[in-house]
Amino acid sequence: MFPDSDLPARADLLITDVTALTMDPRLGDLEHATIRIEDGVITEIGVDPMDPAGARVLDGAGLLALPGFVDTHWHLWNSLLRGTVSDAPGRDYFSVKRGLGPFHDIEDFYWAARFALAEAVTAGITTVHNWDHNVRSPDDADANVRAQLDAGIRGRFSYGPRDSSTPEATMDLADLRVFIDRWPASRTGGLVDVGVALRGPHRTPESVYRAEWRSAREWGLPITLHCDRCLRETDCRTCGLVRFDDEGLLGPDVQVVHAVHASGADITALAATGTHVSLSPITELRTMGFPLVTELLEAGVVVSLSTDTLAMPTAPDVFSTLRAVEAVESARCGADRAPSPRRLLQLATVDGARDLGIDAVTGSLSPGKRADLILLDARSSNLLPSGDAAEALVRQGRATDITTVVVDGRVLLDDRQLTQPSARTAVADADARRDALVERARTAGAWK
Ligand SMILES: [Zn+2]
Repeated sequence: MFPDSDLPARADLLITDVTALTMDPRLGDLEHATIRIEDGVITEIGVDPMDPAGARVLDGAGLLALPGFVDTHWHLWNSLLRGTVSDAPGRDYFSVKRGLGPFHDIEDFYWAARFALAEAVTAGITTVHNWDHNVRSPDDADANVRAQLDAGIRGRFSYGPRDSSTPEATMDLADLRVFIDRWPASRTGGLVDVGVALRGPHRTPESVYRAEWRSAREWGLPITLHCDRCLRETDCRTCGLVRFDDEGLLGPDVQVVHAVHASGADITALAATGTHVSLSPITELRTMGFPLVTELLEAGVVVSLSTDTLAMPTAPDVFSTLRAVEAVESARCGADRAPSPRRLLQLATVDGARDLGIDAVTGSLSPGKRADLILLDARSSNLLPSGDAAEALVRQGRATDITTVVVDGRVLLDDRQLTQPSARTAVADADARRDALVERARTAGAWK
C-alpha cells in the first residue's frame, strides 16, 4: 500500500566558503564559513579551515546557508484538493473540502501528505506541523505520520476530529489514546512528535472542549486550535481569548492559529500565558483579515508562520509570504514599526521552532543542533548586485534560488532536484490521484 522507504542515508558533509545566516545570536552572520555535519548533527561552524576527513565537500562559494524553514500549521491531508478549489461557483475551499473530504482513503491521505511535503522540500521547508482536522481513525493518522517519516521532514502530527463531526460530539478520545500509544518518540526517532488539534470554545459546547482539553493535558499533548471566526457573531471584534484565559485554556502548551480579530486584551492574555500564535498570512489576508504580526511581536508573543493548506489560494513559498508581510505591515503600522527582514526570517526559522518546542533541536545553524539547513544561489540575478543578505532574501528571494535542502543530515534536494524517487512519484501522480478521488465521490452521487 505504501512504498518502501527510500530515504537517503545521512551524509557527512563539509560545506566550505559559504555565507551563513545562522540565526544564532551568538554566531550572527559568517562570511567564508565552513559547516561540518556528522551523523545528522551540525558539529562545527566557523571561519577557520576544517579537515574534510572523509566528508563529502560542498563548495559553498557564491551560496548562502540558512536554517531550514519551519511551517507551523499545514493541513497536509487535503493537498490533492488544490486545482479543484477555484473561483467558480460551488468550488470554494469549504464546499470542496466538505464534498470530497469523506472520500479520501488511507492511501490518499498518505500521498496527499507526500505530495505537499515534496513541495515543502523544494521551498526549503524542513519542519512541518501537520494539522489534521479530518482523522476518522488511528489508521488515517498512522498514514500521515508514516508519510512524514518517509518524507524525512521534521515536525509534529496533530490529531483532530473528523471533518464532518458535529459540535456536540466529543472527539474519539479512546482512538486518540490508541494512536499516541502507537507512536512513542522511540518509534519516530525524535523526528515527529504528536499533538492534538481541537475545535475549542468557538466551535464546541463547554462539555466537549473541557473533556478534550482535560485529556490532552493529562496525556501531555501540545494543543492547537483555529481561532478564525466566531460562530455566534457575524461581526467579529474579538477572538474572546480573555475568556479562554479565564477558563485556564491558554498556556505555553497551546498554539492559537490566525487570531486575526484579537483585541488588545486578547493579545495581552496570549503574552501573559505564553501562548503561541501561528499566522498564515496569505490565507488570512484572502479570507479572514489582517494578520496582527506587529502587535503580537510588540507584546512579546511567540509568533510563527504557516501555509495553512495547498487547497486555498496560497503557496508554501516563504519568500513571497515574508515579502507580503513586510509590505502589509508597513502599510498598516508604518515602516518604522513593521518587523525588519531579519526579524521576519527569524519568524520563519527559529521562532517556528520555539512555537513547536523544538528550538533546542532546530531553527538555527548552531553546533549541536540537528542538521536542517538550506543552501541558496546568491548569484541568481534577482539577488544581484549583492547587498544585505536578509533584506535581499525577503525582498527579492525566490524559492527557485534554493539549490540544496538537508533535513536531519539527509540531502533531500540536491542541485534543485528531489533526491527521493517516492517524492517525485507523489508529484507525478497528483493529477491521477485527484481524478480517482473525484470519480469516487461522483459515483457515490456526492459530487457533480
Ligand atoms: Zn487551518
